[in-house]
Amino acid sequence: MRSPITIIKEKSNNKSCYFCSRKTSDMRVYKNEHNQKIKVCHLCVEYAERRAYRKV
Ligand SMILES: [Zn+2]
Repeated sequence: MRSPITIIKEKSNNKSCYFCSRKTSDMRVYKNEHNQKIKVCHLCVEYAERRAYRKV
């Protein structure tokens, strides 16, 4: 069962990396398959590109 705290965390997750939830100073913005802007840290950029996410 998911706690309300977990849901809030997921909703306010747009400041951290979309994939690993890490917060770094080197974030890149991509668009996912739903045309939503997502932030990706430098460690996950390769993963985003493999999934054909487009750089904004
Ligand atoms: Zn990451």
